[in-house]
Amino acid sequence: MQQMYDMIIIGSGPGGVGAAIESKILGLEKILVIEKADNHSQTIRKFYKDNKRVDKDYQGQEVEIKGNVQFLDGTKESTLDYFDQLIDNEEIDVAFNSEVEKIEKKDDLFLVTTANAGFTTKNVIIAIGRMGRPNKPNYKIPLSIKQRVSFNLEKCSQGEKIVVVGGGDSAVEYAVYLSNKNNVTLNYRRTEFARINDINRQDLKDAIGYEKLRPRLGCNILSLQNEEGLVKANYDDGYSVVYDRAIYAIGGTTPVEFLKKCGIELNEKNQPVIDENYETKTDGMYIVGDLAVSNGGSIAIALNHAYHAVTHILSK
Ligand SMILES: Cc1cc2nc3c(=O)[nH]c(=O)nc-3n(C[C@H](O)[C@H](O)[C@H](O)COP(=O)(O)OP(=O)(O)OC[C@H]3O[C@@H](n4cnc5c(N)ncnc54)[C@H](O)[C@@H]3O)c2cc1C
Repeated sequence: MQQMYDMIIIGSGPGGVGAAIESKILGLEKILVIEKADNHSQTIRKFYKDNKRVDKDYQGQEVEIKGNVQFLDGTKESTLDYFDQLIDNEEIDVAFNSEVEKIEKKDDLFLVTTANAGFTTKNVIIAIGRMGRPNKPNYKIPLSIKQRVSFNLEKCSQGEKIVVVGGGDSAVEYAVYLSNKNNVTLNYRRTEFARINDINRQDLKDAIGYEKLRPRLGCNILSLQNEEGLVKANYDDGYSVVYDRAIYAIGGTTPVEFLKKCGIELNEKNQPVIDENYETKTDGMYIVGDLAVSNGGSIAIALNHAYHAVTHILSK
């Protein structure tokens, strides 16, 4: 017989783990988190570089934590340890390696379906973020050089000529980090890095000052080509440069198809329509974390969303 849950949370990043802890602390009993990967916090694991500094007030977004899960500045590793402890201490049940395919509402209950199982719940919180599908450039990446084009640092080694594309904190952190052991160009379509935090601004200034990193600003790559197995970037200023690797750090994409399958209304910008309590138009179905904001987002913001959504569910 299928077990009935009080709360099912989809995704075990900061929003999902936060929602699970709040649900437990605030009194819900049967809670299940469903995560598509083999461990929690995939965005932090896959996209943060090792030893990355993790800022609570990320990208200048000052946040006062409202709920029961505190969060302080730290590193990638201390942040993952912290979420490990939260899951262990509160004995949160997480079904790993289970990608949720759709959520349907029938007779006041939600049916949550993965490839191998179905679950029934009274409330559901979607916390799947946007980094499951990192943004890609709007030109084609030739298949023959796909292995040389990445969206995180997983495949990077040393001594490579690399172009990092992007103008946010992630792009700057990747470029500065790689510049210690590689020949790095940082390409941004604007002429100034307006959104980055002060520490990254100083790190970038130092890296440029010591000629460890080459900024290539105010221009765009128009296309990529295979040049003897390497990546040739054709810029809109008329120049072409060959690199060993191109890394795009340009954010993530809203999982539109998944949201549609769950019957969630999207606005003209393909963002899910939610109210001030993070509830979708389907009573009892909530969205928190990165997916609930049109731009930005942070760990502390996701934790506050989770607290707010769970509090709202319990107030009904
Ligand atoms: C490079 C980089 C650096 C950053 N640095 C900072 C920082 O210093 N400080 C800070 O506060 N923020 C930082 N952020 C932002 C922060 O990581 C996000 O705001 C935060 O992770 C959002 O949490 P979330 O729970 O909404 O989503 P995510 O953390 O993206 O978690 C979503 C989870 O859902 C899972 N999932 C996805 N689809 C499904 C599905 N269909 N079924 C089941 N599970 C699914 C994923 O595997 C993942 O584990 C950074 C982001 C990046 C990319």
